[in-house]
Amino acid sequence: MVDCVFCRIASHELGSKIVYEDDSIICFHDINPSAPVHILIVPKHHYTDIMELSSDKQAAAEVLGTVMHAIEKVTEITGVDKKGFRIINNCGFNGGQTIPHLHFHLLGGMKLREKLI
Ligand code: 5GP
Ligand code: ZN
Repeated sequence: MVDCVFCRIASHELGSKIVYEDDSIICFHDINPSAPVHILIVPKHHYTDIMELSSDKQAAAEVLGTVMHAIEKVTEITGVDKKGFRIINNCGFNGGQTIPHLHFHLLGGMKLREKLI
């Protein structure tokens, strides 16, 4: 098994501020937030990135379904469903990914700039 910080958070070996969790996904506050609401949506199964997930289309459909469900839950719990939010996935070196375990950033709680980078 890979030594992975998000696997350790998913198994509760490491603590985090959990917003939503079920058998397949865990959502918790980013330790270094970029917005008033910055939640990481993390499928518990270890996929290095979205490209690894997409290599198995059936798994991709299932996992992305759980991500969609988590987005609904987290936006409702945090209240960002009212005014909008942004979902980001960083993939690989050029994408700026620093933790090699598939995750999505949910940012909100303020008016985000329209320019992405
Ligand atoms: P990436 O750059 O891979 O897309 O995003 C990784 C994110 O994970 C960063 O925003 C970083 O602040 C966050 N992060 C890294 N280590 C931890 C941790 O141990 N706990 C939490 N809650 N967030 C972390
Ligand atoms: Zn992992």
